[in-house]
Amino acid sequence: MTAKHMDVREVLKRNNIKQVLCAFSDIRGYLMTFSVPAREFIEGNALEDGIGFDGASIRGFKTIEQSDMVWKPDPETLRIVPWINDPIHKTAIIFGDVYEAGGENLADCDPRGFVAKSLQKKLAEEGKSVILGPEIEFFVFENLDPMCLAWDLWTSPNGGAGDSWGPPRVMPKSPELTPGKNFIIRPKEGYFRPPPEDTTVEYRNELVHYLEQMGVIVEYHHHEVATAGQVELDFKPMGLVPAGDAFYIYKFAAKNLAAMRGWIATFMPRPLYLDNASGMHVHQSLWEGEPFKGKNLFADPDDEFGLSQKARYYIGGLLEHAKALTALCCPTVNSYKRLVPGFEAPIYICWSPGNRSALVRVPMYLKKPSAIRIEYRGADPSCNPYLAFTAMIAAGLDGIKKKIDPGDPIMKDVYELSPEEKKELGIGELPTTLRDALDHLASDEVIQKVLGSHIFDSFMSIKIDEWNQYCLYITPWEYMKYMDI
Ligand code: GLU
Ligand code: MG
Ligand code: MG
Repeated sequence: MTAKHMDVREVLKRNNIKQVLCAFSDIRGYLMTFSVPAREFIEGNALEDGIGFDGASIRGFKTIEQSDMVWKPDPETLRIVPWINDPIHKTAIIFGDVYEAGGENLADCDPRGFVAKSLQKKLAEEGKSVILGPEIEFFVFENLDPMCLAWDLWTSPNGGAGDSWGPPRVMPKSPELTPGKNFIIRPKEGYFRPPPEDTTVEYRNELVHYLEQMGVIVEYHHHEVATAGQVELDFKPMGLVPAGDAFYIYKFAAKNLAAMRGWIATFMPRPLYLDNASGMHVHQSLWEGEPFKGKNLFADPDDEFGLSQKARYYIGGLLEHAKALTALCCPTVNSYKRLVPGFEAPIYICWSPGNRSALVRVPMYLKKPSAIRIEYRGADPSCNPYLAFTAMIAAGLDGIKKKIDPGDPIMKDVYELSPEEKKELGIGELPTTLRDALDHLASDEVIQKVLGSHIFDSFMSIKIDEWNQYCLYITPWEYMKYMDI
């Protein structure tokens, strides 16, 4: 029994924890959990031996003939769920890695253990580390009105998610956007609005309070640009795997605290027509030695933007692999309704200091070496963080390895450039559909390699299926535009 195992037992006992939520991620980026009575951890061998489960029921993991898998906890990730006080329900959550039957070999379908941890380990062996700071935006709604179309689909006998999909049998209603608390701020006018227009501040305060108790320290939070209900909370940057775990803790807390108010928290990138969407910009830097203690390899005080040559090559790698990265960073059909001009989401493959229309931005707030970083703006919160973060870093490292020059920074608003100017400056565009992005992923060997063949194949097959489902569906917009009436 290691010291860490003793700590887990001690924490569970001391806090009278009754249930442990055992957590991992599927390939799509859905948090998966199952409950184990805390006794199995305190008195039993759950910590050492892990727990068996049916891998065939997790999308993309296993086939039915060989479905046994083992989940093994990562003791350092134990957290008490702080909003549950009832003695019967006192709960802790702990992340784990997924192993093949027998519990000896890490499974190649596990995004956390097999993909993110491997890159983190490889970097550590080279004496390096990364720091990631994701800025996660999302919406809270008080009612389902904006989602009434989807509601029709979910409740139609054959139209929902799952393997047995098919054309929906119910004609969609048109959306009924009821004026109400959700809509007292005009579209695109929500940024930094105070109460009473901001009706989310108490919810955010609660979220900050509980996230802090779960080790996710929020540095900054505010109402976002879209109409009432879009929020952003940014947490203190951390290493690769911890940042993936924190992403899931953030969503878990955000959704549960919203549900306790009768609200819905959604990380769907674009829930509203003609208003800003939710992105997840990821600030990143590469360090020699330990994060914040070692040396920031991206910093060069003599450079006009404070950036080292390594940082420029890293940007070169991100731009080079941007199209394939988009499949992992923006992995839903809806993601591509965010990647349109005019809503502060990136469209064009270029970099720039300050400029929010570029895919890679170099924040110009502070020039001190520990604060130097680059911001990749091409992800959204519907992604699998372990896969998206790992792929971004792999792209950047490939840039360093191959010395990929990112070209000159673009100092203008790229949305305003003419097609000729963009051509002259060599500025390409991000994929405009999920299908397009998947095709780019299918021809990018560097990104495929870091995922491994199982995850790459499963991801492609799940996502092509998702795209095909969408292609079958006829949207209200098409009736409005094309129906002869
Ligand atoms: N919501 C924007 C996006 O989709 C970003 C707004 C911002 O710069 O914070 O990326
Ligand atoms: Mg924002
Ligand atoms: Mg940002």
